[in-house]
Amino acid sequence: MLKVLENTVPVACWSCSVAHNESTLFCPDCSKIQPPSSGDFFSVFGLEHRLNIDLAALEQEFHRLSRRLHPDRFARASENEKDWSLADTALLNDAYRTLKDPLRRTEYLLKLEGAEMGVSAAAPSDAALVQNQEKIQNQQKTSRVPADLLGEVFDLNMQLEEMRMARKMGQEDPELKESLRQAKEKFVGLVGAVDRELRAQWTIWDGGDAAARQPAQQAMMALLDRRKYLSNLVRDVTEILGD
Ligand SMILES: [Zn+2]
Repeated sequence: MLKVLENTVPVACWSCSVAHNESTLFCPDCSKIQPPSSGDFFSVFGLEHRLNIDLAALEQEFHRLSRRLHPDRFARASENEKDWSLADTALLNDAYRTLKDPLRRTEYLLKLEGAEMGVSAAAPSDAALVQNQEKIQNQQKTSRVPADLLGEVFDLNMQLEEMRMARKMGQEDPELKESLRQAKEKFVGLVGAVDRELRAQWTIWDGGDAAARQPAQQAMMALLDRRKYLSNLVRDVTEILGD
């Protein structure tokens, strides 16, 4: 019997007409491959929208489905089924990549639930960083500094600037380097604290009704913003320390 997921619409199998969840890659009745659907990444794995997920089970299911989608298995299938196996593979890979990563999973679920992610969510890519260092530094200065960290971020930016100047002159300042190392350690610790808080909010969200989910959602969005800000700082310090 079909277990209907709360986050999917049942659709009929093209081959045997038995209903299944929209993102199911294979018909549970006749086992035929199904065309890729507009269903979400959770339903590809038969999962409800939950943030705490069993990663070992997810990985196992990913490998099981990957094997079933292998092109060799469609050598004698119809053209449609061949096309679907490729499209389903792309969908499966995207779904797995997103769900196995705790941050991507959180962000994805918040978007599915209609949350508007902050502007700072558009983090500059590494390539852009190299190409356009100055512009990105300016962006970072103007993006929202967490209020409780204003002083420390200011000090850190000063030290980073000093370090860059010293480097340009071909000088080493062991004291400055040590102080940056300590700052890095502190900010890495703050990232860890954000992750713990985020996991606490997952559990509230997973177990809550709509009323409990709303504040958890707000909290998670703020935490993701804070985490991005902190990770950018850690990245900058790491880069300049060269370790
Ligand atoms: Zn079927």
